[in-house]
Amino acid sequence: MSRDTDFPDQAKIVIIGGGIIGCSTAYHLGKMGCNDVVVLEKGKLTSGSTFHAAGLVGQLRANANITQLLGYSVDLYRRLEQETGLATGWKMNGGLRLACNQARWTEVRRQATTAHSFGLQMDLLTPSEALELWPIMDISDLVGAAFLPTDGQANPSDITQSLASGARKAGIQIREDVEVSTISQSGSGLWQLQTTQGRISCEKLVICAGQWSREVGEMVGVNVPLVSVQHQYLVTEQIAG
Ligand SMILES: Cc1cc2nc3c(=O)[nH]c(=O)nc-3n(C[C@H](O)[C@H](O)[C@H](O)COP(=O)(O)OP(=O)(O)OC[C@H]3O[C@@H](n4cnc5c(N)ncnc54)[C@H](O)[C@@H]3O)c2cc1C
Repeated sequence: MSRDTDFPDQAKIVIIGGGIIGCSTAYHLGKMGCNDVVVLEKGKLTSGSTFHAAGLVGQLRANANITQLLGYSVDLYRRLEQETGLATGWKMNGGLRLACNQARWTEVRRQATTAHSFGLQMDLLTPSEALELWPIMDISDLVGAAFLPTDGQANPSDITQSLASGARKAGIQIREDVEVSTISQSGSGLWQLQTTQGRISCEKLVICAGQWSREVGEMVGVNVPLVSVQHQYLVTEQIAG
């Protein structure tokens, strides 16, 4: 790999990882007026888990703060294209939760109560009402369903590129093909990073390395309690209807 001669040797903040989290962190730092920031990505932007995500955006969680944060994400994905010129693929098609037995139906009804207490619309539906929304479904064993009209789907790679574009507009540098290999701390407290493009020092270090965060954390003696698990997905042909 050829060396980048204008590779920066210092920054206030270095972010390790150019997935959706690293680029979102950079974008939001830029919004806060903090632009002495460099993002380092060992491959290309979105080449980690972000590339594989289906892009489903479901907002309801058991915790009010996380639900509120996901509501903010929906709002951001909706307006980001206007700001950066890059589309996010956001479609607010709503999300259906299905209950095929009484125990699950009790759980779904409790979720609806939780959603309402968080200010999130979640409508309980009969099987035939659910069928109207998704006509290819077999409802022979469906007890009930819930619909969250403001849930939806976006393209994770496009969101990341759009956030990166917003970050660049704020003056933030994003460097691809730069792998961080070691990290140490100098007597002055600055972080010293050795990378495949040379050394860079910074005051603050943000680890956004996704499933590699455990390894990066180990470089600074931090135990990141994270382990990868398999995640299945289906790719279908077009389905009639
Ligand atoms: C099949 C699948 C489906 C999914 N579907 C959904 C979904 O529908 N909805 C949803 O919300 N989530 C979904 N997810 C989860 C989602 O993809 C992740 O939560 C998200 O992409 C994590 O983003 P990230 O930025 O933390 O990690 P990543 O995208 O993995 O980014 C981390 C980056 O760090 C870089 N990096 C690592 N080590 C170093 C180093 N030493 N130096 C420099 N760079 C480094 C990597 O190259 C990588 O690009 C899905 C995941 C999978 C696998």
